[in-house]
Amino acid sequence: MGFDYDDQNIFARILRGEIPNDTVAENAHALAFRDIAPKSPSHVLVIPKGRYVSFDDFAANAPAEEIAGFMRLCAEVVAKEGIGLDGGGQGFRAITNAGPDGVQEVPHFHVHIMGGRMMGPMVS
Ligand code: ADP
Repeated sequence: MGFDYDDQNIFARILRGEIPNDTVAENAHALAFRDIAPKSPSHVLVIPKGRYVSFDDFAANAPAEEIAGFMRLCAEVVAKEGIGLDGGGQGFRAITNAGPDGVQEVPHFHVHIMGGRMMGPMVS
């Protein structure tokens, strides 16, 4: 069993610098940038720099230090956007879509961090 990573997906191209992005934060293992079609006042995507198709690929196969680096960058984004509970923010939603049933459009693992307004129902 394996995950079939497409090197031509749009986030792979962003990581190679072929397409511009609005970077919010970056570390050795992950990149965070603003969603091009934001669905909330703060809408940031966090992606690992490694080649992972989806949450289940990343969770099963990424080395622990990459997982830690990814999660710490998520924390940095939350703090920078002023939406974290530590520091008096109003909170946020962190979502990842996987595969056809999850309606994942870009096949490079990413977490949406969304805040700045109260979210609606989670499933639609
Ligand atoms: P969905 O579109 O159903 O949320 P995904 O979870 O795969 O599917 O999310 C892909 C996200 O990537 C979308 O929110 C889309 O607006 C965003 N996006 C697509 N292209 C770019 C880009 N070049 N720069 C920033 N965000 C992008």
